[in-house]
Amino acid sequence: MSSKGNRIINVISNRNDASIKTANLLIEKLSARGFYVPKNYDTNAELNICIGGDGAFLRTVHRYNFPNIPFVGINTGHLGFYQEILPKDIDGFIEKYVKGYYTIEKIFLVKADVHTRDNSFQLLGVNEIVIKGIKSKVVHLEVFINDNHLEKFSGDGIIVATPAGSTGYNFSSGGSIIYPSLKALQITPLSPISSRVYRSLLNSIIIPGDIPITIEPEFLYENSILIVVDGVEFKYKNINKISYSISEKTISRLNFDKNMYWNNLKSKFL
Ligand code: NAP
Ligand code: MN
Repeated sequence: MSSKGNRIINVISNRNDASIKTANLLIEKLSARGFYVPKNYDTNAELNICIGGDGAFLRTVHRYNFPNIPFVGINTGHLGFYQEILPKDIDGFIEKYVKGYYTIEKIFLVKADVHTRDNSFQLLGVNEIVIKGIKSKVVHLEVFINDNHLEKFSGDGIIVATPAGSTGYNFSSGGSIIYPSLKALQITPLSPISSRVYRSLLNSIIIPGDIPITIEPEFLYENSILIVVDGVEFKYKNINKISYSISEKTISRLNFDKNMYWNNLKSKFL
């Protein structure tokens, strides 16, 4: 079948057997309803269906450069917090999709501008952007919020998490769960040191997404910083400062009912 006149849906699957099986079944059912599922990712599609776990979702978003096409996820992975549909519910999902029984909700992204001695780079994260030390060394970081000096942090590092990412690394590190529609960023310490020598905040801070957060590594540590974006490591030479804010760019996903978030949270964490 060609895409001529058909509504296009991308089906993106990881390579697990369960995902491939689910993808094949899904493609069959979508085709039967008159949708066209292209072999390769099509930027003209109306929907991206991602099959796998959260890792598969995160990699898809990065690979296709934070597309405007809304996402929906089918979970064949481990936790699948972003992947709210189960393979057994495919029929119900297609039915609701065709009837338009859904809303589209935004997923806020965290942006980091990394300034080095002679360059700057921009990073975007769905879950979080973490600053850590290379070789598991303690890092010493000056933290500013809206240009106000907050603290000199010493410890394993700092997570800056989005609301959607708040249930990931942030949550395991003692951070709070933030409802995804709140436009906020959460700064969560990783093993903060609080001793006679160093004094770091032990808990998270949650601030509005348009207030800039700036982190400056101490001079001696400019070359010892590791930046981890949604689980992927980046290294830069001579980092002077990293400025964070919520990106103007967002991605979006389908929400099929108002209880979906809470059901998902309860079934996956409690
Ligand atoms: P991974 O090592 O498989 O991820 C660790 C776990 O986090 C997986 O169970 C993953 O779900 C889950 N996860 C990812 N995003 C989540 C979210 N927004 N809410 C709740 N759980 C979430 O690596 P990955 O699959 O590539 O995912 C990268 C993410 O892992 C990072 O962005 C970070 O949030 C998280 N992480 C967590 C820790 C920790 O908790 N100590 C440490 C490093 C990284 P799936 O099983 O469905 O993939
Ligand atoms: Mn994973």
